Amino acid sequence: ADQTVCCDISGHLPVLGREVTVPLVTGGEVTYAALDYAASAPALQRVWDDVAAYAPYYGSVHRGAGYLSQLSTDLFENARRTVAEFLDCRDGDQVVFTRSTTDSLNLLAAALPADCQVFVFETEHHASLLPWRDARVTYLNAPRTPQQAVETLERALAGRDPHGPALVCVTGASNVTGELWPVRELAAAAHAHGARIVLDAAQLAPHHPVSVRELDVDWVAFSGHKLYAPFGSGVLAGRADWLRAAEPYLAGGGASRKVTRRTDGGVDVEWHESAARHEAGSPNVIGAYSIASACKALTEAGYDNLVAREQQLIGTVRAGLAEVPEVRVLSLFGDDAPRVGVISFVVEGWNSSHFAAALSAEYGIGVRDGLFCAHPLVRTLLGSDPQVQGECGAPEAAPGEKSLNAIRVSFGAGTPDEHVERFVRAVK
Ligand code: PMP
Repeated sequence: ADQTVCCDISGHLPVLGREVTVPLVTGGEVTYAALDYAASAPALQRVWDDVAAYAPYYGSVHRGAGYLSQLSTDLFENARRTVAEFLDCRDGDQVVFTRSTTDSLNLLAAALPADCQVFVFETEHHASLLPWRDARVTYLNAPRTPQQAVETLERALAGRDPHGPALVCVTGASNVTGELWPVRELAAAAHAHGARIVLDAAQLAPHHPVSVRELDVDWVAFSGHKLYAPFGSGVLAGRADWLRAAEPYLAGGGASRKVTRRTDGGVDVEWHESAARHEAGSPNVIGAYSIASACKALTEAGYDNLVAREQQLIGTVRAGLAEVPEVRVLSLFGDDAPRVGVISFVVEGWNSSHFAAALSAEYGIGVRDGLFCAHPLVRTLLGSDPQVQGECGAPEAAPGEKSLNAIRVSFGAGTPDEHVERFVRAVK
């Protein structure tokens, strides 16, 4: 496939589109419609161009006086500053480059102070649900309104040991329903009870500006590949104290300031107190650089056009789905809840995986099917019994039985009208 610039319909945010032509089982060919941005969004053309311009110059960072190492170090550290600005971080906050949101949240989980209590809703993505299992974790039941989420958290925090450290982990926008969570209110509740809060912004940051200061969250995590940059890089940004006090996430070069042999033959280490403490090894400079490039592109274009365009596409998809009586859109907070361009649904009488396979094979449309790495949430939404459910993948529902999994369509910058129109037509 030739690389082509797809389209610039979201206000100066052209994405790299590969005009992939796919064969249809019904005969003929069609241009592939990628409607799974919630899994990974295409890279922005700007990110691609920036990386290509930098490529001849890259070297390993923090590795001495060589020109290319110095240049790369500057770019890497500037990328950190760009991300801090993008997230509107406070003075003294740290930006750690990681591999992904999953990596960021595991890093924070490894940095929890002793005896930390963790509070997390069962509705979280597995990346924000599972890393805390070695801590004293309380799983909160799915709320049915944003207000109920705040009340549920307040009740749980009121019953906690008020002297020990505590952390709340919450996702800003659901990767299943696209619904926005009341992050500011949850942060206020956490702080009122002496707890800290980390925001999983994997799905929020690509659709809305995230201000650490305004939301008053202690940390935020996101992934490059959902923010229109390539795979392999992510961010954990926020309060320095817990990160500084923790053992390095990885032990190795770059994280250590001074290493000496002891007289008894052992080895002593002084670790860095900066973000480098958790970035041992040769960091992914291109990953950090491309995240910063995406942050700049989104900031310069502004989110207004992106949000307006996305809301228009959400309207088209929801109106189309509403015309099909067999379709049920999944939602925790109801039809009027504010949401991003991520919509999951089931079709009565259909196994969702077969339905998604038909969208692909007959219409060239790529959507996600399954339980979306949020098994408890999807099961709650489907009203199904956890004991009898299958795995992420394609569990078979007997004819007439409730769906065991769901279908998700998601979009963003660069999604042409034709893709969502074809999707609606295909579902109908
Ligand atoms: N949180 C949410 C809400 C997500 O949607 C995802 C990715 N689907 C993750 C965390 C994990 O992101 P990654 O796979 O990039 O680590």
